[in-house]
Amino acid sequence: MEKIILITGGGRGIGASCALLAAEQGYAVCIAYRADEAAAAEVVAAIRTRGGKALAFQADVSDEDAVKALFAHIDTHLGRLTALINNAGILFPQMRVEQMDAARINRLLSTNVTGSFLCAREAVRRMSTRHGGLGGSIVNISSRAAVLGAPGEYVDYAASKAAQDALTIGLSKEVANEKIRVNGVRPGLIHTDIHASGGEPGRISRLQSSVPMARGGEPQEVARAALWLLSDQASYTTGSFIDVSGGR
Ligand code: NDP
Repeated sequence: MEKIILITGGGRGIGASCALLAAEQGYAVCIAYRADEAAAAEVVAAIRTRGGKALAFQADVSDEDAVKALFAHIDTHLGRLTALINNAGILFPQMRVEQMDAARINRLLSTNVTGSFLCAREAVRRMSTRHGGLGGSIVNISSRAAVLGAPGEYVDYAASKAAQDALTIGLSKEVANEKIRVNGVRPGLIHTDIHASGGEPGRISRLQSSVPMARGGEPQEVARAALWLLSDQASYTTGSFIDVSGGR
């Protein structure tokens, strides 16, 4: 069976590392991006240069019609999806809960939670034996914030990641007997641009002394865990989480 993967937010950071590793492991890759077309095109070009198959598609995962169009594009240009990494995620500038308004909270939830649900739904419709599919595997990129809570920084983001973890647990049980496994990866402090969007590009330097391994992680270290969970090596693993956080 040809391995076909969708990685949301695959143009930058952890998603880009997942895309490159997936291609190395023989997947045909679709990268969904929201705005940074150039970054997505660069990842696609890198995969093609190495002889792999890849394409990029612009889709805001919080927009239901855009998600439908994304999956239709994959059906047409790559074939029936076998793997999904729900990686697209956002956070907003650091603040306390007492300062947050509904617009911020709802925007964040619509990408991190609704977006993960919509992509999981479309993936299940293609993978599940109930729908004539041949099975597949889903990995949700959560965060250690789901457990730690991110106080004083972004409790809204932490709550969205806890919701994503509940999706992992519930969906894994719902589709376990339909040849679909669903797992989560909880990264800790990983060197990507996301910290700048929270208003503190140097966040890892400030916090790394709180990491038992005393350093931030690299996107590739997260990608390896995600790709292992997707693989047949993890054939009896579902509803599980791997913390990639240096012990924090
Ligand atoms: P980056 O900010 O580097 O990249 C985020 C990616 O998500 C971008 O490719 C962006 O697209 C895409 N994206 C954002 N919103 C949407 C949307 N609505 N629709 C489609 N794509 C979207 O983040 P990271 O690589 O750091 O984060 C990846 C995941 O890992 C996130 O879910 C994050 O919460 C999680 N994580 C990261 C940690 C870290 O320390 N870096 C720690 C714990 C979890 P575009 O390029 O077009 O802007």
